[in-house]
Amino acid sequence: MMAWGEEIDELRMPSTVRIVHRDFVPGAPGDFSAESLLAVQEMTALALGNQFADLVRDRSVLIKPNLVRPNPDFPTATTTDSRVLIAILRLCRDAGAREIGLGDKPGIGLSCRGAEKLLGLQDYLAETNAHFVYFDESEEVWEDNPQARVCDKVPIPSELRRWEILLDVPKMKLHMHVGVSLGIKNLFGLVPEHFRMKHHREDLQRFLVDYLYLVKPDLTLIDGLWALEGQAPICGTPVKDFNLLVASQDVVAADAVGAWLMGYDPAEIAMIRMAAAEGLGVADLSQINIDGAPLEPLRRFFHRPVLSSQDVYPGIDVMVRGACVGCLSSLRHALDRLNLAGKLKDDPQTILLGMRDQAQSPNLKNEQGNIWCYGNCSLDLFIKQFEGTEGAQWLKGCPPHFMDFYRAYCQALGLDPP
Ligand code: SF4
Repeated sequence: MMAWGEEIDELRMPSTVRIVHRDFVPGAPGDFSAESLLAVQEMTALALGNQFADLVRDRSVLIKPNLVRPNPDFPTATTTDSRVLIAILRLCRDAGAREIGLGDKPGIGLSCRGAEKLLGLQDYLAETNAHFVYFDESEEVWEDNPQARVCDKVPIPSELRRWEILLDVPKMKLHMHVGVSLGIKNLFGLVPEHFRMKHHREDLQRFLVDYLYLVKPDLTLIDGLWALEGQAPICGTPVKDFNLLVASQDVVAADAVGAWLMGYDPAEIAMIRMAAAEGLGVADLSQINIDGAPLEPLRRFFHRPVLSSQDVYPGIDVMVRGACVGCLSSLRHALDRLNLAGKLKDDPQTILLGMRDQAQSPNLKNEQGNIWCYGNCSLDLFIKQFEGTEGAQWLKGCPPHFMDFYRAYCQALGLDPP
């Protein structure tokens, strides 16, 4: 471990990870008081280091946060802390970046302009002469990816390719589908929405590694001021006193350290393991140069998310046969979100996942209430046994988007739509 302040070629040592931690950080993600902004500004400047100015000076810089669905009135740990974004905007401006952009494409039907409005950083963008980037209004260019294992052509927004420096600024959180949502996963927000769901299955982690061959950040800064455990990445419970930032030029190393800090062995996370095995970065902690706060005292064992929906919510009977993580996580997201919104009722529902194998018939004699055949795998079953039955629905998709079930459930029960 190098001592803080020791002469190192910070930004050129790809396996250096810097940790900045404070016992106390004033304020909360939505608190833009001078005291709160100053504290986060100081931490961010330390995390990015002295050579950050050299990296961004006279260059166009794109900041890619995780915005899922920003809501400044309800600060949570699902999205990148706006105070960190303000700090980066100001550091880029002060360093003399030629152009500063900030953008993400949220994946739940929200447009970039909608995300910009909810984020509420217009004044800070104006102050730093930066602007929001609308990926969903950009042309798409299909790029070849010869190293890919699951997808040899990927649509890339042409807007992305005009920036010289990509700063990856994820939220530090767990993820029920892929284990952790950090720097590698955050890049998924650059994939056009119509293409994303096609890889939201078992192949998601492999797709994320493939994508790293095409889009690799110049610098990753993980926002762990508040982190997220439990039913993450969308529901979950904020860890409000994690109080740390993790920075590295090597996104794989940053993710390995981030995963470890949340209680994982990095080798448990397939995308980190595969990316390291293919030389896209370093995941072996013994080979990573940790700079700044020591790791050991900061580590916590976060409550891990539960993927299964079976016997979780009263009245919701879930039958699974042969379904993959795509439908399992989509359904659990939907139920957790309905529950969080106070919309999940006790009315009996039977939800069938997988069911592609018709040679063995599941016992469907005791199903109650509405019948939901969830995902393309269950289409044959739906056609054979339920089509035309009142209260029976097939949810299209491989997997269906969790918001499709959310909306259909609200409609079936006469609840206000989201
Ligand atoms: S439809 Fe089948 S293959 Fe597709 S995500 Fe669902 S379970 Fe997996």
